[in-house]
Amino acid sequence: MSILIDGKALAAEMRQQLAERVKQFKAQRGKEVGLAVVLVGEDPASQVYVRNKIRACEEVGIRSFAYRLPAETSQQEVEALVDELVAAENVHGILVQLPLPKHLDERKILRRIPPAKDVDGFCAENVGNLAMNRETIVACTPFGVMKMLEKYGIDPKGKSAVVLGRSNIVGKPMAMLLLNADATVTVCHSKTQNLKEVCAAADILVVAIGRAKFVTADMVKEGAVVIDVGMDRDENGKLCGDVDFAAVKDKASYITPVPGGVGPMTITMLLYNTVLAAERS
Ligand code: NAP
Repeated sequence: MSILIDGKALAAEMRQQLAERVKQFKAQRGKEVGLAVVLVGEDPASQVYVRNKIRACEEVGIRSFAYRLPAETSQQEVEALVDELVAAENVHGILVQLPLPKHLDERKILRRIPPAKDVDGFCAENVGNLAMNRETIVACTPFGVMKMLEKYGIDPKGKSAVVLGRSNIVGKPMAMLLLNADATVTVCHSKTQNLKEVCAAADILVVAIGRAKFVTADMVKEGAVVIDVGMDRDENGKLCGDVDFAAVKDKASYITPVPGGVGPMTITMLLYNTVLAAERS
């Protein structure tokens, strides 16, 4: 039987610590920590994400500035808003909720956010710094995974780590973080051959592919640490991960559940990055 990595509990603990840091910042600098969130259009999932982020800010005392713009907002208007937020002293972090409506040039908009306010950790400079193992702002989801490993005393040093998925927001930064922590890292994707064998050799297996219950017990080494980033729906429409939890839990030494694993850590790390950006400002 494996040990469950409780992301919900760790997120709650970290939010308490962040609330303290927010208070200290206010006492020392005489102003609030501020996060601006820009949402363009009416995508229902994005609306929920933005609402959750704003609620999480309130929980730790971060001042949030929400901008909900109509779907037909022009490139020029979005860029002007971002420029305004870049200049605003009370805004320490800027988050543009993706995806943007198709007529907008996402890259051009994101490029206007300076690395110091890029609390998503998506810009080229922050990603470059991560690749070079320098001080930076790290993408929230993989950063949250590292915090979970740390909390449970799992040191990646010298371990064989396999990251399944190579997206810019999860897989790639995850691989870089594990490499920076001295793991021997293999990154797999849809063109990887012998996927089962590669995964089954991992001491630490991080899965982020968006395929419900894709990782089965035969893909997992006895005693491996299994981190499930996936947020999928099963055949009954119930939330599940990329890992077949019921089958894998008896083989893994540690495993994250879905829900209650990586998910709660992602928003917490956004708050963490915002506080860090404020403290560094
Ligand atoms: P993504 O951009 O769609 O990337 C998926 C990656 O998985 C790609 O690299 C793809 O390979 C690979 N892949 C897909 N099917 C595969 C297969 N059958 N075998 C091997 N590799 C395969 O996804 P993402 O944004 O990284 O998200 C991944 C999952 O994590 C989703 O379920 C998402 O909802 C979830 N997520 C959760 C959180 C959280 O807070 N818990 C945050 C972000 C994402 P190619 O590159 O070859 O196409």
